[in-house]
Amino acid sequence: MGGMSSTEREIVERARAEPMREQVLAWSAINSGSRNLDGLAGMAATLADAFAALPGELSLEAPAPVEAVDARGRTVQIEHGRHLHLKVRPEAPVQLLFTGHMDTVFGVEHPFQETRWIEDGVLNGPGVADMKGGLLVMLAALKAVETSGAASALGYEIVINSDEEVGSLSSAPLLARAAAGKRAALTYEPAALPDGTLAGARPGSANFALVVRGRSAHAGRNPEDGRNALLAAAALALRLNDANAPGLKVNPSRIEGGSPSNVVPDLAILRVNLRPSTPEDEDRAARLVESAAAAVATEREVQISVHGGFGRPPKPLTPDAEKLFELVKAAGADLGQGIAWQPTGGVCDGNNIAACGVPVVDTMGVRGGKIHSDEEYLIVDSLPERAALSALTIMRLLEAA
Ligand SMILES: [Zn+2]
Repeated sequence: MGGMSSTEREIVERARAEPMREQVLAWSAINSGSRNLDGLAGMAATLADAFAALPGELSLEAPAPVEAVDARGRTVQIEHGRHLHLKVRPEAPVQLLFTGHMDTVFGVEHPFQETRWIEDGVLNGPGVADMKGGLLVMLAALKAVETSGAASALGYEIVINSDEEVGSLSSAPLLARAAAGKRAALTYEPAALPDGTLAGARPGSANFALVVRGRSAHAGRNPEDGRNALLAAAALALRLNDANAPGLKVNPSRIEGGSPSNVVPDLAILRVNLRPSTPEDEDRAARLVESAAAAVATEREVQISVHGGFGRPPKPLTPDAEKLFELVKAAGADLGQGIAWQPTGGVCDGNNIAACGVPVVDTMGVRGGKIHSDEEYLIVDSLPERAALSALTIMRLLEAA
């Protein structure tokens, strides 16, 4: 810890000492699956209470409207929970962004609802790592930094959204507004590996629903008059799949629609996920979807409408982002924590923040693993450890200014 000033040492100790263990048990007991609006309202209220310990103006913001295509090809509105937004000292010279999400992938109907100790210090439970533990790390670090005199030079916004696990479509505008003009951002997803390794570059991600409308006809009497939407969707799935290449992953994931066996089906919906590595690959992917849809529509005499888009832009490691990673690494070294980073195939709000031109480290949360499964676990000692890392990182961002 040779590299730390006495002030930094004091702030780091405060961050470590913040109570987090009991809170993570209490917070993970609240079901906040992305589609559980009641649970999300309860979680948002709990978070609003906890984050009221910080100065600034706290609000729960209405979700932006989001449309989706249902299994019958109709456009429907999707409901989301409110997002927590806190704005602190907007006039201060150094402006940072902190983000996290309150939702989990485990809805009310999921059997995984309770925490249990796997062994001493290792807690299994829904959202303990992804990311209720991470939210506690963020809060502990900021509470500690707020006790420092240097905090008067620090302004920040916090966004804790309710829809990250379903693509952040209703919070993307709020995230973009909050990111605008920020020097750097920290997001509290769990570390990419249980040893604390951070996620570096990330691909983008797009979800499309391609609604194919053909023409129905009797399967025996006049099938030649029909235009089979199911076959067109299958042809489209194969054509898109053929575009898999370095820099672009394509996953046709579902076909809905069809008809009774004696009818040529006139409706099918193909769902596909695309993951481009770079902005250029993203352009290529967007053109691919349009051209594949147009080609199959012509070949099979069907209509195809394209819904959806690139909710998560690619996040390449820019020189500015690399500088921020180096700063976190140096802070880790002073705390006796070895910090490395590596690319990952996953996406998160860090993608959206990076697309606003703001350098972001998006895995500042806890150490743990097996997230999105009922084996999700949190290494409890990583709560104070990562709170210390965040607190020192924030102090260094202030000093670097
Ligand atoms: Zn997460």
